Amino acid sequence: MNTGFSTRCLYGAGNTNNIETTGAISFPIYQTATYVHPAVGESTGYDYSRLQNPTRQRVEEVIASLEEGIDALGFSSGMAAITALMDLFKPGDHVITDADLYGGTIRLLDHVIEQRGVLFDHIDCSKDNIEDYIKENTKAIYIETPTNPMMNVVDLRKAAAIAHEYNLLLIVDNTFLSPYFQRPLTLGADIVVHSGTKFLGGHNDTLAGFLVTKRKDISEQLRFLIKTVGSGLAPFDSWLILRGVKTLPIRMEKAQKNAQEIVTFLQNEPKVKKVYYPGIKGTKEYEICRKQASGFGSMLTFEVESPALAKHILQFTKLIPFAESLGGTESLLTYPCTQTHADVLEEIRIANGITESVLRMSVGIEDVEDLIDDLKQAIDSYEEGV
Ligand SMILES: *Cc1c(COP(=O)(O)O)cnc(C)c1O
Repeated sequence: MNTGFSTRCLYGAGNTNNIETTGAISFPIYQTATYVHPAVGESTGYDYSRLQNPTRQRVEEVIASLEEGIDALGFSSGMAAITALMDLFKPGDHVITDADLYGGTIRLLDHVIEQRGVLFDHIDCSKDNIEDYIKENTKAIYIETPTNPMMNVVDLRKAAAIAHEYNLLLIVDNTFLSPYFQRPLTLGADIVVHSGTKFLGGHNDTLAGFLVTKRKDISEQLRFLIKTVGSGLAPFDSWLILRGVKTLPIRMEKAQKNAQEIVTFLQNEPKVKKVYYPGIKGTKEYEICRKQASGFGSMLTFEVESPALAKHILQFTKLIPFAESLGGTESLLTYPCTQTHADVLEEIRIANGITESVLRMSVGIEDVEDLIDDLKQAIDSYEEGV
């Protein structure tokens, strides 16, 4: 049955009648490490939970159906997923990445994977000509769009065309928009990466990561890696993601609506110098984003007048927590220069625009008036010199 996105959030692509023999509407948590073999040479299909577990398999099927891939693999965190992914590359291989990536990804690539001999070039994939950086040993292009935190938008169809002309993999971290708004595999990407901790889980209560692909050869290589390196998603955490994903569409819609109202509020605040959000009409980001995504999401970044004001806002919001992470029901304010991007070289950080006056906001599903009131009182109390 060819079902719609919201239906697949509940049932995956499968036939609901076959889901579970007891008829439990909530998929059970198979909290088991191993499985009894019926006889020598026979298996129930499950041998050991590092390889496969029914609850993990269930969430993998749902995520694969949402991203329109042939396979999805669940990992214990986004970073565990990216680490396993990097095992696809050998010493001497070269990978082109965007300079503006999640800080933890940059730390992994530059401080761990590069030591194994994989070479990286970090460029601005939204502006630079990617082809100029392709070498004989280039194997892949790794991007996020919109980027974290500066919200640059990379043209996915263009990047896919280049990747395939040179026989490279296009890998897209789709955490920020989630498959509800953007499905890179349908635009030519080979592998999609997720921090399932964010919008997929959606409740700021568990870590998870996913790799999704539409290529059988890559799925086989990744299946070999997940069973070998052992960073698969645990049964209970798989269940939390299954539960979170059920409400993905309505959370994404509500959070986006809130974000758009906050963007308008911030644009009218004299002490806010610039707002970065792909849904702002008239910007280059808007024009590219609307062609490849069905929405602009609920992540926004804004630059205020001074570092002192940025710090004041973080300290004086009464409702919005100052915390890392994003994509959950609760809004969060993040200070990229000391949190997500603290380990990025200062000169690179500044060149990417992540100054001490820049704040990132993950907009949640609260009443938007409360969020705006909170931001306003934090900004205004600075004005009064409190
Ligand atoms: C958070 C994040 C990651 C890392 O995921 P974890 O689940 O925290 O390990 C990777 N990419 C992006 C875009 C993220 O926001």
